[in-house]
Amino acid sequence: MKKGNIGVTTENIFPVIKKFLYSDHEIFLRELVSNAIDATQKLKTLSSCGEYKGELGELNVKITADKNKGTLTISDRGIGMTAEDIDKYINQIAFSGAEEFLEKYKDNANAIIGHFGLGFYSAFMVAKKVEIRSLSYIDGSKAVKWECDGSPEYSMEEIEKDSRGTDIVLYIDDDNKDFLEQSRIDTLLKKYCRFLPVPVISGKEQEWKDGKYVDTDKDKVINETSPAWMKKPTELKDEDYLNFYHELYPGQDDPLFWIHLNVDYPFTLTGIMFFPKIKNNFDINKNRIQLYCNQVFVTDSVEGVVPEFLMLLQGIIDSPDIPLNVSRSYLQSDAAVKKISTYITKKVSSRLEEIFKADRAEFEKKWDDIKIFIEYGMLSDEKFREAGKKFTLLKDTEGKYFTLEEYKQLIEASQTDKDGNLIHLYTTDPVAQYTYINAATEKGYNVLLMDGQLDCHFIGLLEQQIEKSQFVRVDSDVIDNLIRKENKKEVLLTTDQRNMLTGVFNSQIPTVDNAQFIITFEAISATDAPIIITQNEYMRRMKEMAAFQPGMNFYGEMPDSYNLIVNTEHPLIVKIRENADAEVADKVAPVTKSINDNNAKITAIRDANKDKSLSDEDNANISTLEKAVKSLREDETKILSEYASNQPIVKQLIDLALLGNGLLKGEALNSFIRRSVSLL
Ligand code: ADP
Repeated sequence: MKKGNIGVTTENIFPVIKKFLYSDHEIFLRELVSNAIDATQKLKTLSSCGEYKGELGELNVKITADKNKGTLTISDRGIGMTAEDIDKYINQIAFSGAEEFLEKYKDNANAIIGHFGLGFYSAFMVAKKVEIRSLSYIDGSKAVKWECDGSPEYSMEEIEKDSRGTDIVLYIDDDNKDFLEQSRIDTLLKKYCRFLPVPVISGKEQEWKDGKYVDTDKDKVINETSPAWMKKPTELKDEDYLNFYHELYPGQDDPLFWIHLNVDYPFTLTGIMFFPKIKNNFDINKNRIQLYCNQVFVTDSVEGVVPEFLMLLQGIIDSPDIPLNVSRSYLQSDAAVKKISTYITKKVSSRLEEIFKADRAEFEKKWDDIKIFIEYGMLSDEKFREAGKKFTLLKDTEGKYFTLEEYKQLIEASQTDKDGNLIHLYTTDPVAQYTYINAATEKGYNVLLMDGQLDCHFIGLLEQQIEKSQFVRVDSDVIDNLIRKENKKEVLLTTDQRNMLTGVFNSQIPTVDNAQFIITFEAISATDAPIIITQNEYMRRMKEMAAFQPGMNFYGEMPDSYNLIVNTEHPLIVKIRENADAEVADKVAPVTKSINDNNAKITAIRDANKDKSLSDEDNANISTLEKAVKSLREDETKILSEYASNQPIVKQLIDLALLGNGLLKGEALNSFIRRSVSLL
């Protein structure tokens, strides 16, 4: 028997392995199974190039748990190891055998997983003692047993072993007994080994017999050895992709479409990315892209490898060129990883463009579902933005789709305002904003539907991207103001009339939760509505953006502010004004005059003291005058509201406008209905 020390510099590396090397103990199984697969693949390579002439036999990897002995054994029928091999590959930790092998068989040894560094030693994360029992494929080799109990000391001796290959026997330590449970082992194998290229056997298939499940004598194979992504796209039908998708993500709707990735220069990467149909946020977090390395599952957190905006996709990425077991920040700065991320972006955009060009009708059908990916991509990724412009679609209220270029052509002639701005009208809610859409389409304008989750951000991007363009929600002003073709018609009201009508209308606005109204006057046209309620585009956008950004609550908490636009050209408004002129103007005139007089006095005092501070006497005077103005205003409001309350038409017109905006509710709605009936 040979004894010696494992070639590491630190006195005892195992505590380090246990604690720091891998955060997850469970990955020991991935490492050992990967080694077994490697050894098997190596033998296949040697056989195919004629260096190994013996029988291959049935090649598989077997995992056996023995609860009585407390052992977990990973067996393979691969190349095995001689005593020298063990000395070289196992005893000298720093030396990676896989690297040497790869160097030698560069061209046809792609399938070798030896990527995980200190793989074998991860066994000590769960075992108090590890045995290697191995027989090399080389003719005349002697079987050998290596044994180590976790100290740097090992022993090696010759043993009897008939079959070629390696058994790794783990004497599971007391803290990790759960790794001896068949169900635990199967779960791990399903997670890491589901798509390994060599059959992995764990336990037996079971059958239902006499009221319980019992083992049959048929081996249970855990994995699918040639998963879809490893095949050539030409070998696969749509059905194969769909089946693979459902195997990966059971219970999901069919994906919208998929992209088969396949590169071998300047890095190696294969995979399939699916565009899922996103129904809710729960789906997004649960079914993520999985990262593989030569068919070994590595992780499902792919930040850095996959561009941020494509994290919503699903599927598999398999690449031996992604450095594993490194920190995320290192990963993101790694040149190979950057190239991969760029490649994926490019591939996704060119595939989208391809589908768009090949079958526009199909693309349009899926647009509503893929729009979220594309908008997110364009918002967050500059490279994708350029490419995305070619297949970004705008949808109008009639359900028609346009490219950006087509849409420009469509509206250029009709929707350019007098200053040369191309005005895009949009709605976020075709039902609630129906009257505005109607007013716009009657003028021959087109209205876009922008009701997606990201649309409020996307609109901002489009405004930057489309030259001299503005997006305005169709209800943010009267249509002639939104697309102004000529200078505004002047409102022919005296200051007193304005004042009077403001008071009349203001007094009749019902209380609406979380909303405030500002009365303005516009000479729109006799055929437009008498009162129009609009919401300022800027304020509304600020509020919408605030909902996404913490710290901008200031906007979020403000009530919605609406303009209540009184159309001074409308015959009913003209009538209301004439009536008021006749019946209430004389009554308010003296009050208004007093207000004006008092205000004039305040201004005079201020003007006389422009360069110096006010004396106490002046201050007292101003304060008295202000109090007087305040109480006069109350009188004025009282007179006007008493008058207005006997003018059901005023209230009726306001309520109609509110109703058209879904703002009339509860008690206000009730009294509107009663009033309507009595007016009839
Ligand atoms: P790596 O796999 O990164 O090279 P490991 O510590 O996992 O590192 O393995 C070291 C070497 O030991 C391997 O490269 C291989 O040469 C050899 N080895 C490990 N397991 C086996 C096995 N089951 N059969 C044959 N050789 C093996």
